[in-house]
Amino acid sequence: MTTQLKLAITDAEWEIMRVIWTAKSTSSKEIINALQDKMGWKPTTVKTLIGRLVEKKLLTTQAVGNKFIYTATVTEEESVRKVTLDVFSHICNKKIGKTIANVLAESTLSQDDILLLTEVLEQKKKQAVNEVVCSCSKGQCDCCKE
Ligand SMILES: [Zn+2]
Repeated sequence: MTTQLKLAITDAEWEIMRVIWTAKSTSSKEIINALQDKMGWKPTTVKTLIGRLVEKKLLTTQAVGNKFIYTATVTEEESVRKVTLDVFSHICNKKIGKTIANVLAESTLSQDDILLLTEVLEQKKKQAVNEVVCSCSKGQCDCCKE
């Protein structure tokens, strides 16, 4: 499943994927209807985006009667996870903690979310290292400067 995500999903394609993830399987007509108000896209735009997602093998197509039914080949959870990890792969290991703290500070969270985060942090506290090791190339972060 992960190899299929090598081709990045664009912002516009995320909108399409979210409709399909929610509906499990759906037709282009339903996707067009779902996104009409939010995005104001023409049917041709939606069809073009669907076509790209099929090319990227993120959607499978099945002919049912006179229409096509689209199903996602990747889960929403996996896709979000992949994108998040991709972002973190672009920053120094030493900056990950602070970056997560910034994301948390800017997020609206429920009591349940905070409970979950506290549990994760308690686990992390047990496994914490004294110092995070930088794996950057020389010249790509301050810790690698000579
Ligand atoms: Zn670094």
